[in-house]
Amino acid sequence: MTYNLMDQAWLSVLYRNARSARLNPVETLRQAAKLHIAYSNPIDRFAVFRFLMALLYWCRDKTGIEFEDGIPNEWFIFLSEQPHLFELLGDGNRFLQERGLSRLRPVTDLFHEIPTGNNSWHFRHIRDYATGVCPHCCVNGILRTPVFVQSGIQGMKTGVNGIPPIYSYYIGKSLKENIILNWEMRDPAGEPFWASPQFHPPDADIPYLAGLTTPGRKLYLHDPVPGKDACIICGNKGESLVYRIFLEPAPDINNKFWRDPFVLYRADKDTPFYAENILGSGRTLSDRKYRHILSEYYASHGEKGPVCIELIGFSSEQMKYNDAWSLKLDLDRKNSEGDHGEILAKWDIAVKNTQLVRYKPNGIVSDRHENLKKSLKNDLLPDVESKLLKKISSLLLQEKPDWDEAIKMYQPALRSAARMLVPGVGAKINLERNRILYSLPDPKKLKVKGANDGK
Ligand SMILES: [Zn+2]
Repeated sequence: MTYNLMDQAWLSVLYRNARSARLNPVETLRQAAKLHIAYSNPIDRFAVFRFLMALLYWCRDKTGIEFEDGIPNEWFIFLSEQPHLFELLGDGNRFLQERGLSRLRPVTDLFHEIPTGNNSWHFRHIRDYATGVCPHCCVNGILRTPVFVQSGIQGMKTGVNGIPPIYSYYIGKSLKENIILNWEMRDPAGEPFWASPQFHPPDADIPYLAGLTTPGRKLYLHDPVPGKDACIICGNKGESLVYRIFLEPAPDINNKFWRDPFVLYRADKDTPFYAENILGSGRTLSDRKYRHILSEYYASHGEKGPVCIELIGFSSEQMKYNDAWSLKLDLDRKNSEGDHGEILAKWDIAVKNTQLVRYKPNGIVSDRHENLKKSLKNDLLPDVESKLLKKISSLLLQEKPDWDEAIKMYQPALRSAARMLVPGVGAKINLERNRILYSLPDPKKLKVKGANDGK
């Protein structure tokens, strides 16, 4: 069986008239002004977009023709001359795969969200080696390996960016706008991994296209088996399914000189931002590290004017479980007087500083008090945060952000907390409750110190 990545319709898209389809990459790029890449999983949405960008940089480098109002036809002609580099199956060279591997694994190892049979935390379970994935979805799994791999068991190592950092990119009204907004060609481009499969050592300069495409795993797909089973990822029936792969660690490629165009680095330390591991920390709801990123965005990307960005965070706990999230935010440099990003970065300090968290009511034994405090921190405050988050774009886009409105969102939570912590009737009790009710965060009074703490 053969399967060419450039001919096969594996890429999920959504047209601006809401029609969904699967297209091949060339067709996707030809129609880029009419559609968006569409995956419910942000990992795939980003990995596929990054692959398309690498593909376009490669075309630009090889043809020497610039991207102007659209994708030049010469780029498509160049791509049509390289079919041998995009074979997923068959006996010849294969796309991002390596022959001669021996560590047999189920194909589902490529997909973080599929829990295996003994993963007792999940409702949904699959059986290793008995659950298959169609070749279309295998492409998505393979495209994740340059960006979302973790180190841990079996000598597995991270990719070129090390522990997956928070990735971000600009979102426009169509894929074409996304390409234009995110375009960042760097010379010399070098060769992508599919054209020159070599792992660059971590202490040497890595060419641009190699950095964008080098997978964090060595892998090889077993041939698909015909049958009636549904693909565990897309649910389609009737396709031949891949059940097994060879999967081995890649050499250490965590490159200290590499600066990824989709990663925002802290101006002071030159290190990326990482998603917080909320599963391991016992926290719930949203990961809140994004606010620190905003001030960096305003500082370094402000000239782009009003834009929408998507952030993609990925964290894992010893490869036992993974957590992925994404967030879209509207930003406008024009309206950022008073440094909104800075104020936002201070919000979690504001939350930590509410009297609510430090409050110790009389007559409550210390264990119970500790539990209450935890519950407040883990349940109530994130709940307020999520309400704030929903309005964050409109807050940021206002002529002058109304922080009072944001602060007021805390009051209903504080009211419930006051009732919970200080039950009963009486003047003294009322006074106690009011102390909690009015212990609102005040971001303006907060010190900048700590705004960039965390990882
Ligand atoms: Zn599938």
